[in-house]
Amino acid sequence: MSFTSLGLPQVLLDELANQNYNQPYPIQKQAIPAILNRKDILGIAPTGSGKTASYVLPILTNMNGISASENRHVNVLVLLPTRELALQVREVFRVFASVLPERIKSLAVYGGVSINPQMKALNGVNILVATPGRLLELVESNAVHLSKISTLVLDEADKMLNLGFKEEMTRIFALLPQKRQNLLFSATLSEDVKNINQILLHNPLVIKVEAKTIDIDLINQVAYLVPEEKKGPLLRYLIKSKELKQVLVFASSVYKADNIADKLRKNEIDAAAIHSKKSQGARTDALSKFKLGKLRVLVATDLLSRGIDIEFLPCVINYELPRSPKDYVHRIGRTGRAESSGEAISFITDEDEHHFKIIQKKMGKRVDKIDSAEIDF
Ligand code: AMP
Repeated sequence: MSFTSLGLPQVLLDELANQNYNQPYPIQKQAIPAILNRKDILGIAPTGSGKTASYVLPILTNMNGISASENRHVNVLVLLPTRELALQVREVFRVFASVLPERIKSLAVYGGVSINPQMKALNGVNILVATPGRLLELVESNAVHLSKISTLVLDEADKMLNLGFKEEMTRIFALLPQKRQNLLFSATLSEDVKNINQILLHNPLVIKVEAKTIDIDLINQVAYLVPEEKKGPLLRYLIKSKELKQVLVFASSVYKADNIADKLRKNEIDAAAIHSKKSQGARTDALSKFKLGKLRVLVATDLLSRGIDIEFLPCVINYELPRSPKDYVHRIGRTGRAESSGEAISFITDEDEHHFKIIQKKMGKRVDKIDSAEIDF
């Protein structure tokens, strides 16, 4: 099945081809026609399922003929939990809107940065992608009005609720007009999400897609037995000897992530850390450089690695093991795709051995071990 039968205009079909979106993902097949028909949607879909395009494309199509936004009234509101996701989603809107004949302006707003530039940029915006707290600040300053919203999207609703945005979301819902289309996406259907559905959605089409299964067999996994104090030198040795061009390194804490990146830089390996304590500017900068292949090593904590869409990585290194076997598979699943196998390296200290056995058992696969004492580094 191709995108052509879903009811999208030719310019978007051309851009999809341009972006190498050859076939719609399952969620797109179901959501696009329904959203075009102005139905409400409850999409239970994880990151990576293609959910962003599943709402961006029909929303843009439905905006055909819409007049320019007046007096800071936006037409479409997308609420989501993090700045990274906000920038990512806004970018998808921007790219596809750029091929449409009418001018549709989109903007991402989020906290942690100065509010003034966002206030200024809000003029004439049709599609606003926002984290809840900053949106409310902007509403309170009269920088944006929500009473003419025709479509509301909640993306990663479960995460928003986990992060404690419930009260802010309720305040925002009260500002919206009664008649509107509601699209809700969540990786899981928690009780909280169920409650929100009931308040928000009218006779929704429920779409459930499974997470893309990770094919463990496509990933070359290897573990290095290494004492804690030798991890730094081993990391540098592996990056240099394997000539790794792009590596995502996982650390267990903010402090560790900074430390690993600092040491790499001191040894002239281009590296940056990305975690919750970094400024927004530094996070965006590191991530976009890494995606563009201009940064060799990105050191991340689990929290930030989730939800960030990095399509394919040749190599992932667990400088420290994650606590749960699920997180282990999630981390290494970023490498290895049908067309190219990736490499996942884990550093294991004596204390980790038992835990690593459990991970292997849960994963159903044994991982080869190399004793770093036998390597000259
Ligand atoms: P998402 O779940 O929306 O974060 O999308 C995950 C990734 O899949 C993004 O990198 C998209 O660019 C990509 N993607 C979405 N839909 C398609 C498609 N139909 N074909 C190829 N790539 C896609």
